Formats: sequence, structure tokens, C-alpha cells
Amino acid sequence: MNGYIGQNEILTLTQKIVRCPSINPPADTKECAQIIFNIFRKNEIYAEVIEGKEGAANVIARLPGKRKGKTLLLNGHIDVVPPGEGWTVDPFGGEVKDGKIYGRGTSDMKSGIASMMAAMIGFKRSGKQFNGEIVFMGVADEETGSEYGTQFLLGKNIGKNADFAIVSEPTNLRVELGNRGLRWIDIFVEGKASHAGRPNLGVNSVFYAAKLIEAIHSMKFKGWNDAFEISSPSISVTMISGGAKVNIIPNRCNLSVDRRMIPGETTETVMKELQDVIKPILKEEKDLRIEIKMRPVTWDAYLLSETEPIVQATIASFKTVTGRSPEIRGKSAATDGSYLFHLGGIPTVLFGPGNQYLSHKADECVSLDDVVLSTKIFVEIFNKLLGL
Ligand SMILES: [Zn+2]
Repeated sequence: MNGYIGQNEILTLTQKIVRCPSINPPADTKECAQIIFNIFRKNEIYAEVIEGKEGAANVIARLPGKRKGKTLLLNGHIDVVPPGEGWTVDPFGGEVKDGKIYGRGTSDMKSGIASMMAAMIGFKRSGKQFNGEIVFMGVADEETGSEYGTQFLLGKNIGKNADFAIVSEPTNLRVELGNRGLRWIDIFVEGKASHAGRPNLGVNSVFYAAKLIEAIHSMKFKGWNDAFEISSPSISVTMISGGAKVNIIPNRCNLSVDRRMIPGETTETVMKELQDVIKPILKEEKDLRIEIKMRPVTWDAYLLSETEPIVQATIASFKTVTGRSPEIRGKSAATDGSYLFHLGGIPTVLFGPGNQYLSHKADECVSLDDVVLSTKIFVEIFNKLLGL
């Protein structure tokens, strides 16, 4: 920065990545990873592509300092959700209008990726001396659970030795100290089929599923943590399917549930609470069965202390660059920060341009000024954490 990489180059970099539709599903990030790899190599920064599985390509880049020291990990996902309907611009055009860059992934989170890359490139060009290492990790598969992205790389000990990390998810330049946890749960309600002309001979699974939905949505949670944007746990029934024919009392109805957690909650506490909700419903009908199954992909909640060096450095860098204090809080949604913190043991801040409320929607966009600003802030963080 400071003249080493400017707005136009940052814009071009963002557009190059946005114009490559790395849609997940099907989770093929090969082309996008190759673009990022080429940009790093062109700038004489070591990079490599590592596939978690066929197509799920991750890019690792390394900028080593003068001597041994601390390692700062920069993590961001390069996959995006499908564009969906309702766009007034090309979702993969990277068009600029009124100071905003438009396209799927501009907020979530290719501008964050571009910003971290630009910061590394600008920092290298500046020739500024530093110790330790900056490791960039552009990962696949985040939108579907990170099994072949961040989790895979940590499993291979890549980035695991880092002393601190930043995930540039869209935070609107707020400093986010962690995220709520997440579990996905499938519930199978089994009754008994009968002719709908004789409903008394059956057990209507749709009816009992409806009772269960009502009970789930009435759940009260004791836990509370004001640090998070949404301070309490939350639970939502998000999918339902049941019944075979209009004139058959349905014997099966399946529900899927999305459960958000605050620190301290675990798989066990979540399951126990659900079982407690199910019990009274089961008592109503002896031929009713309800089974709950947690999906294997899980994100645990975490929250850093403000005294962590990475938090201090991010806050101080924000102040140096903007002249004001950043907003600080915890994210409501889950991110790869969960894996970096819990699997990697790495204190991880979430900080990036882009607005989470525009993520996964039509006409997703990001303010170009914010992308430039976050690039400057990243460079300042490098200086503060690793600079001589
Ligand atoms: Zn994201």
C-alpha cells in the first residue's frame, strides 16, 4: 500500500476473481484457484494449489519474512453460492456502478480474498522488513461444510502452526471476535398409514410433525451472550417433507432443523433439549416414533478476548487507517473461524469488506472504497504483528 498497490489494481484483482463462477454446488474451484495462483506467481509470491478432492481446489501462498517469527494466517473461501434469480446485472460480470462492484461473491467473500491478496502484494513490493510469515489460504467447500477446504488443510497440518489468523468474511469492516456455532439436525416422525376415509386407524405423522414444529419454535433458551449480534441461541425448522398421497394418512414426515449456538453449548446439550421437547409429544400416541439425527458437519461457537494480540492489532490498525474506532462484536452465522479456532487452536478474527446482509442475494455488491480500506488495514496489521 502507500502507493505500492492502488485502487485500480485492487479493482481489477477483485473483478478477475468474481468473473470466475466458482459455484458450490458443484464445488469446483479449480479455475478460480488457478487465477489466484497465477496472480501470486506473477507477483513472485510462492503459491501452490492443493485439492481436497477432485475439483475442490485450495490455494496456499506464502510470504516469508527475514527471520523466523510469528505466522499470520489469512483465510478466505473462494466458493460462492449459486446466483439464484432476480439479478439486474450479470452475476459474474464484476460490473462497477456508483462505486460498487456487483456480482455473486463480491461481498461473500471474493472482495475479502482480493483485499488480502492485494495487501500481500503491496507489502511485498514495499520491501518492508518483517519477521515470521504471512500464509494465505484460499479455500474450497466452505459453503457446504469445509470438509475439503479449511478442515482438509488443517488435517494436513497446513496453516496449523499459525499464531493468529484473519478470515475476511464480510463484516462491513467491523472487528468480529468469533461466531455462533451451528448444528444441522434431521428429525424423522413415523406414524402409521391408513385409508384417509378411516383416519382413526392410522397415526398421522404430518399432524405430529406440526405439533413438534410448534414446540420447537416455542423453545426458550437460557443462555445469552451480548457479544454476538444475535445474543441468544436460535432454532429454526427449515425443511419439511411428508405424505405419499392425498387420500392416505401419512406414516412419515421428515423435518430439518438449523440450530445456532453460543459458546458453552455442545452437541450433547442441543440433543438433550430436543429430546425434552419430543418426550411429551411421544406420550400422546403409543404408535408414534420420533428419531433425531445430527448431521456430521458441525461448527462450534467461539469468542476471542479483546486482549488477544490479533484483536489488538486489528483494532489498532483500523484506528491508524481510518482515524476512528471500529465496531466490535461476534458474528451470528458460522464461518471457517470455528475450525481455525477449535481444530487449529488459532485465535481468529473475522474482518473484511462486504456486507453480510447482501450475501447469498440477487445484486450482491461491495463498496470499492471499503475494499481499498480493508487492504490498507491488512497491510497495517502485517506491520503491527510482524514488522521490525
Ligand atoms: Zn462466506
